[in-house]
Amino acid sequence: MQSRWISRIFSTGYSEHLMKKTSRRRFMQLTGAVVAGSAVSPRVAAAWPVNSPASVAVVPPLSVFDYQQVQLLPSVFREQFDRNHDVFLHLDEDAMLKPFRQRQGMPSPGADMGGWYDNADDFSPPQNFHAFIPGHSFGQYLSGLARAYAVTGSHATQEKVHRLVRAFGETVEPSGKFYRGYHLPAYTYDKTSCGLIDAHEFAKCPDALEVHWRATQAALPYLPEKALSRDEQRARQHGMVADTWDETYTLPENFFLAYRRSGRKEYRDLAVRFIEQDYFGPLADGQNVLPGEHAYSHVNALSSAMQSYLVLGDEKYLRAARNGLQMVHEQSFATGGWGPDEAFVIPGKGLLDASLGTTHASFETPCGAYGHFKITRYLLRTTRDSRYGDSMERMLYNTIAGAFPVMSDGTSFYYADYNNSAKKVHYRDKWPCCSGTFPQLAADYGISSYYKSDDGIYVNLFVPSRVSWSQNNTQATLTQTTNYPHAQTTQLAFSMPRPETFTVYVRIPGWAGPKTNVAVNGGRADVPAEPGKFMALKRTWKDGDRVEVEFEMPLRLEAIDDQNQNNVALVQGPIALFGVGDIPSRITKAQMLAASRVSQSSDDWTVRTDSGVMTLRPFAKIMDEGYRLYMRAEG
Ligand SMILES: [Zn+2]
Repeated sequence: MQSRWISRIFSTGYSEHLMKKTSRRRFMQLTGAVVAGSAVSPRVAAAWPVNSPASVAVVPPLSVFDYQQVQLLPSVFREQFDRNHDVFLHLDEDAMLKPFRQRQGMPSPGADMGGWYDNADDFSPPQNFHAFIPGHSFGQYLSGLARAYAVTGSHATQEKVHRLVRAFGETVEPSGKFYRGYHLPAYTYDKTSCGLIDAHEFAKCPDALEVHWRATQAALPYLPEKALSRDEQRARQHGMVADTWDETYTLPENFFLAYRRSGRKEYRDLAVRFIEQDYFGPLADGQNVLPGEHAYSHVNALSSAMQSYLVLGDEKYLRAARNGLQMVHEQSFATGGWGPDEAFVIPGKGLLDASLGTTHASFETPCGAYGHFKITRYLLRTTRDSRYGDSMERMLYNTIAGAFPVMSDGTSFYYADYNNSAKKVHYRDKWPCCSGTFPQLAADYGISSYYKSDDGIYVNLFVPSRVSWSQNNTQATLTQTTNYPHAQTTQLAFSMPRPETFTVYVRIPGWAGPKTNVAVNGGRADVPAEPGKFMALKRTWKDGDRVEVEFEMPLRLEAIDDQNQNNVALVQGPIALFGVGDIPSRITKAQMLAASRVSQSSDDWTVRTDSGVMTLRPFAKIMDEGYRLYMRAEG
């Protein structure tokens, strides 16, 4: 069986293409690798000719820490991470593999997982989304587990990743039978690709790169010649409507990562082939081409622009990513969420406001937050502009912090609802896209919180956590203790065997009031805390040193859009406040800005009006009560 698959690899046009582009010796290495891939014992898989990781054109000034270097301490974020890790660690492996085995005609034991994940023939949009994209999120579950292993060092998690990669590899054959008649081949391949490269990078899986190579060959016959917009897909001959929903424009990020991690130039060529020039070109020139586009996948595509910039060195892609995210910011809700009904609106027409009355699908939360964290991480690392940290923080506290956890039966949180009459609900179908991004995002909370520079460390998120690193060959540990943003303070404590000179950069959010204060060992820092900048604390740090930051978090009103300046949300520091219970019929802006906290221990706020008292609450504290984000306020 395997040798037949291998001979079919050789007969593909792609192999001929490779033959032309690579040396004979290189081609023999490749073919040797494919033969090795037919057996999956670690001994044989070790023969896979992994090149050394590829060099890139641009190295950002800030780097991410390794996953294990940052540990979350008890908080809602640690709980989310632990819960996701636990759910996916205990997910039945036969069930996870079932759609792949079924579509290959292999024995497929185990239960159907249900929802979008199943392989069945009753998918019929928009009424029935059962079996929408069989096995779509397998790669994301694998990625989430690989990252969770890197954070925790859990052997059970690592072993599960290795078993899943091996068993998945057995379902991959070059004709890509899996993708025959499949609605969104690029969508699922992209997620599988991410899972496999993460299994290699973060879970040290010996088979993952070889399986990735074969999975790529299997998908290629089903991918178009270039990235296609949805308009282009609609214009081409297609079957059912779902065949026009594929997301080829998100492929370059993982192709570039596969290139960077394996050193195989073929992946770089594929990444370049799928760069959506019709999207990034206008964005780089400041032209807003977002309206009407599918929101999450087009924010996700900005990360492909960033990998294009980092690998190829063309600044056009950096401009595209920066401008694109700026345009997203300009049509965001006060929570940081964006894309009502999963689409970007035409600016300047009051359409964000209009969405408050027409939809409950205001923001695709776990996927959107995952994409938002990725692009803000890339841009923060590249530009050192703290406002990308502000953007990430706003997203963290107002969206994902309030998402219901993924349950072991696949019940998931999907849309945040900002409708004038809103409720928090679970999604109709089990195992949707958002069940795949949530475990990846939660594993990334730690590495999103701190960054390393040549001269020190950047403190970006104020979450209870501990980061350990080597500073000029001295092992340093920074422990952050905080109940932020409920408390308006955070403490950083240093532990190190000997004094060392370096700079600690602390993000001072753009909204911070003038009373924001930073103290080092109890004395006021000798540099000003400037809102919207990283504050640089350079000194010789020693064991027991501490930094205390006290943020002034003024209340402010944020209008839904320029056309509706009187439809406002109340925001305190990074937190949007939602009205719960009875909403007064008349309310003024002055009354909203005079809101007071119910008590020191409570997260609730009170606004007094002539027509009654209104209670406001952060999204993370809302359960099943009705709520409303935007109020029509007079004056
Ligand atoms: Zn989603």
